[in-house]
Amino acid sequence: MTSARTRRRLIDRLRERGIHNERVLEAMLNTPRHLFVTEAMAHKAYEDTALPIGHDQTISQPYVVAMMTELLLSGREIPGKVLEVGTGSGYQTAILAQLVKRVYSIERIRDLQLSARRQLKELDLINIEYMNGDGFLGWTTFQPYDGIIVTAAPREVPQTLLNQLAVGGRLVIPVGGDTQILRIVTRSRTGYQESTHDAVRFVPMVKGRA
Ligand code: SAH
Repeated sequence: MTSARTRRRLIDRLRERGIHNERVLEAMLNTPRHLFVTEAMAHKAYEDTALPIGHDQTISQPYVVAMMTELLLSGREIPGKVLEVGTGSGYQTAILAQLVKRVYSIERIRDLQLSARRQLKELDLINIEYMNGDGFLGWTTFQPYDGIIVTAAPREVPQTLLNQLAVGGRLVIPVGGDTQILRIVTRSRTGYQESTHDAVRFVPMVKGRA
């Protein structure tokens, strides 16, 4: 079966599982996930599962990518600047780059960052800035962000990231250890509003650059 057909089937599954945002579904339909995994894993690229990408890290499950992106976007204007922590394979970055004006993506493992960067450039996604660094520190240069999405799990919501949110901005982040929960924090003029969502499973967010 061609990659376009298996990709379409994946999108049908995401729809069945409750993803409604057509822009998110379209971005996922347009993005060749098999190019973000090794050749050995490529045959599984359109199954709805996380897959190893080396360095003990994983490319996120498509459903989780779709859900988090939907939560980041829902009920608001298209975010201008989005900070992503945990570039990994670059797949989530590719989806974001099609939906927001500019993506600022931080990855602590240099090898992963370099291969993600190469792949994203190959796909002509050029509205992305990259940093090899520690996402716990955020990226002060370009703050404040309209959205921040974190794809590794810290034990608690890092205050540094909250500080870098614009008023009206939204943080989507998995929090916990063995059990994790997806949290959404929105910044208003007067403070932060927090809500909790699905249980998720991400690799731990690790302090410091690798
Ligand atoms: N969104 C990625 C997920 C990769 S897994 C994808 O779908 O491919 C999570 C990534 O977060 C790993 O690459 C890991 O190295 C990175 N990471 C963990 N802690 C980090 C930190 N403090 N700063 C930046 N990146 C971090």
